[in-house]
Amino acid sequence: MKPSGARRSPPRSFTVLAKHNITPNMLRVTLGGEGMKTFPADQSGAYVKLHCPNEEGQISVRTYTVRAQRDDAIDVDFVLHDHGGPASRWAANAQPGDTINVGGPGPKKRVAPDADWYLLAGDMTALPAISDNIEALPEHARGYAVIEVLGAEDIQPLSTPAHFDIKWVINPHPGDNSDLLVDTLRTLPWLSGRPTVWSACEFSSMRKLRAYFKNECGLQRNELYVSSYWKLGSSEDGHRLEKRADAEQEG
Ligand SMILES: Cc1cc2nc3c(=O)[nH]c(=O)nc-3n(C[C@H](O)[C@H](O)[C@H](O)COP(=O)(O)OP(=O)(O)OC[C@H]3O[C@@H](n4cnc5c(N)ncnc54)[C@H](O)[C@@H]3O)c2cc1C
Repeated sequence: MKPSGARRSPPRSFTVLAKHNITPNMLRVTLGGEGMKTFPADQSGAYVKLHCPNEEGQISVRTYTVRAQRDDAIDVDFVLHDHGGPASRWAANAQPGDTINVGGPGPKKRVAPDADWYLLAGDMTALPAISDNIEALPEHARGYAVIEVLGAEDIQPLSTPAHFDIKWVINPHPGDNSDLLVDTLRTLPWLSGRPTVWSACEFSSMRKLRAYFKNECGLQRNELYVSSYWKLGSSEDGHRLEKRADAEQEG
């Protein structure tokens, strides 16, 4: 099969060790085997490029977060969406012993550690990265995470610093209803001091969050990480192009 859009470093071969549902719409696949022998340590929160077979018998490269890493394995959490797609289909059908090529890892995006308070926001695709970020927060951290999930049963128990709150928002139609995250953020009190913001979600929601943070909150580029992780109606290949065009237009 011919890779399309693969990263330059050669991918490693991983083997599916196990899989189980974390919640109804989030499937955890544990990968290990040969690839772990050379996979760098401490990559929780980093992204990897999964080489998934597509319906044309070729390879589609899809981006996922390393949710957790142990000496012999990494966990990757897949949102089980019903729009089809090589990665979600691969995960749903994966069986222990299956192999997959994995590119990367690429750098993790962590909130700036020296802020006065922290604001994280995202949908289920960002939940692995948000969880990793929360785990890395200092014990004195203040702030919020606003996390959109497909249903109440997709809420995950996350342990947080004492003065850090999580607001769960239910959105069965992310992308179609792209106001929910930003509307929820508008209801939260703005805390004192200098914030650092981390957010990732569907493209339309991302644009609304970005406008809110820049225009309404007056945040500067160095206080803000806003990323689009997927786009309703576009495969990752199409989304990649639209994301690039959007970034050029935004400047
Ligand atoms: C840095 C980064 C890290 C990411 N980490 C994760 C992660 O840990 N877990 C995770 O689940 N996703 C993650 N994503 C998002 C994931 O890469 C996309 O959702 C990807 O498009 C899924 O590929 P696919 O093959 O299933 O669908 P594609 O072939 O890309 O798309 C097929 C169709 O499905 C739709 N679609 C894609 N994703 C979703 C979705 N989540 N909900 C509803 N419809 C969708 C598309 O709009 C399209 O119509 C991450 C993205 C980035 C950029």
